[in-house]
Parts: sequence; structure tokens; C-alpha cells
Amino acid sequence: MIYMDNAATTRLDERVFEAMRPYMMEQYANPAGTYSFAAKSNAALEHAREQIAAVIGAKANEIYFTSGGTESDNWALKGVALANAKKGKHIIISAIEHHAVLHSADALARDGWDITVLPVDAEGAVDPAALEAAIRPDTVLISIMAANNEIGTIEPLEAIGEIARRHGVLFHTDAVQAFGHIPLDVEKMHIDLLSASGHKFHGPKGVGMLYVRKGVKLLPFMDGGAQEKKRRAGTSNVPGIVGMGAAAEIAMAQMERVIASESAVRDHLIARIEKEIPHARLNGHRRNRLPGNVNFCFRFVEGESMLMLLDAAGICASSGSACTSGSLDPSHVLLAIGLPHEIAHGSLRLSISEETTMADADAVVDRLLEIIPRLRSMSPLYEDFVRHQKDAQ
Ligand SMILES: *Cc1c(COP(=O)(O)O)cnc(C)c1O
Repeated sequence: MIYMDNAATTRLDERVFEAMRPYMMEQYANPAGTYSFAAKSNAALEHAREQIAAVIGAKANEIYFTSGGTESDNWALKGVALANAKKGKHIIISAIEHHAVLHSADALARDGWDITVLPVDAEGAVDPAALEAAIRPDTVLISIMAANNEIGTIEPLEAIGEIARRHGVLFHTDAVQAFGHIPLDVEKMHIDLLSASGHKFHGPKGVGMLYVRKGVKLLPFMDGGAQEKKRRAGTSNVPGIVGMGAAAEIAMAQMERVIASESAVRDHLIARIEKEIPHARLNGHRRNRLPGNVNFCFRFVEGESMLMLLDAAGICASSGSACTSGSLDPSHVLLAIGLPHEIAHGSLRLSISEETTMADADAVVDRLLEIIPRLRSMSPLYEDFVRHQKDAQ
């Protein structure tokens, strides 16, 4: 099997699993306990908080553990909106946000908030000048993702943060695809809230975090016990949190090397596809791009059929995002970068990890060289296209 769906989830690192194991078996105390057995669980939580804070230049007491990226995004949007409603009810997001942000914004819109959805350019980047023009006196939050999960485009966070700061508007970024993969600095980028998720950087599933800058007003999203300084109730997922901390430390220590190795495989995939497969279009930014992301549209190819044939060849890939596959709607991200419906349907996302080799990349392109002509040969649109081209000659 060749796994090229690391944007959907990653394999748990063995070192992370070993770090988690004692907290599932011997060290199972609820950290809220008053006995010394619990103090060890609590110390493990605080250690993980430090490991995670270090990745983004935050302080440990600004890290709040959640159940994942989706909860962190929901909390950031709804928590800030509810806590700041007196100041205003206007929020700015981009058109290519993850559904966890988009649908949280939809929910707020149903409750009377005004949402501005900023368009992106053909590469998927937000224009900082357009963002600044959208800010109003009643704007309380800007939520722009750090890097897009489908097309890999990295957003100009520093410019966005600078504008938000200058206008006194809070800045949240969904950094689920970026955290542990590319450098992030909440000070340099003026980020007030940041979402991350353990399973996107070789940590466990079902655990995430929200960075909340000291002083930011945010209503709790989960009501209950006094965990996480009374801001996020619920018994702490100690093994998950320990695992996310260990994965964060490993990711930070290896970042430079992993960026180099992933980018080399990514660029090899892109170069071969562009050279060898006609009517292929690279989606996303060519340079400001996640090291692990490749996304192409193949004209006259139906995405779902392509994925089925790749699957039959033992290759795991996706079209658009895991959340949209299974529905027949083309991805909102591909539509936002201006692709027409029929082309957006033929998209393929190959998301790689440091475990992906050049041989894996070659094997995938070799398969595509068989699959794509085969699918095109069954497409009446492609037949018409070829006939028109012949007529024109
Ligand atoms: C995966 C993902 C999420 C959701 O995170 P979960 O931990 O799976 O809930 C949110 N945003 C982006 C950009 C993602 O890639």
C-alpha cells in the first residue's frame, strides 16, 4: 500500500505510542485527584503544554487542550463571538476555510452575526489589502487558516496579523495543517488564537489544542468541571495529550529535515505530472505551499473513478478533502480559486509525509499514466475535445 492521504490523518509515530502507553496502563489517575498518584498525571499534562507551546512561541499557560481541530475551531469562533457580542457582531473568514470554521460561522450567522467571506486569488491566497478593507468598527474576529488542507497554500499570516493588531481585531488561525509542519510564531505573526490537532502531525486522534493569548475574552464551549482553568470542562485525555506533546516535540526537532525531504518528493511528483500528463493543472501556490501537498486537476477525468482505480492499485489518495468526498458537490476550495464545476470534479490530492519515498512517488505517477488515459478514453467530452482539435488543425 502507498499512503498519500496525510492531510486527512497521519500514522502514529512509534515513539509517541511508547510515550502514551504508561498513561493508559499504569499511570491512569485523573489529574484532578488530590493524591500523589494524580500529581504524576498532572505533571505529564503540564509537560505536554510546554512541548506544544514551544512549537509556536507561546507560553504553556496559553495552551488549552480540546478533543481536536474541529472543537478548537468551534470554540475560537463561537467563544470569541459570544464573549465580544457587546463590541460587535461582525466576523471575517476566508472562502477556503475548513468546514469546522465555515459551519461555525454559518451557525453564528443564523444567530444574527454578520459574516464576511473573503475571496482568495487563483492560487488560494487571501489579499491582505482586501482583508483590511473588510474590517468595520463592529468587527470582533478575523479567522484565516494558516495553510489550506486541500491545495496546500500557505496564507500571509504575518501581514494578516499585523493588520488585525493595528485595527484592534482578534486574529484566529486554523493551523491544523501547519502546526508541526512549518514554522509558526504567535508573536511575530500577531496571532491571538490558534487551532491544532494531534493526528495531523503523527500524534493520536481525538486530541487537539487551542492557543489563547493571555487576556483574550473567550466564553467556555464545554461547561462542567474546573479543568483547563475553568475554560474547557471534561476529564483530561491524559494519554492523548501526552502523545500530542511528544509528537509536537519530535516535529519541532525534525522540522527542517522533514521540510527538505517532503519538498523534494512533492516537487518530483509535480514535475513528473506536469511533464508526462497532458491537461493537468496544479492547484494552489507553487512556492508558498505546504511541503507535503500536491493537488492537481485532470481535465476530462472524473475524480471518484480515478480514486477507485488508484485504490485498486493499493494507493490511498483523496479528491478535495475527506469531508467532501462521498458527496457529489465539488470542493468549495476549488470553486473559490475559480475552477469551473466540471474541472473541479477531476481533482486529486496527494498528501505525503516524511515516510513517502521517491519510489512511492514514481509508482503513483506510473499508475496515473495508465489510469488517466483509460478514463479519458471513456469520456465523451474528451472525444469531442480531440475531434475539435483535429478539425482545427
Ligand atoms: C483536519 C482538519 C481539521 C479538523 O481537525 P480534527 O482534529 O480532525 O477535528 C480542521 N481544520 C483543518 C485545516 C484540518 O485539516
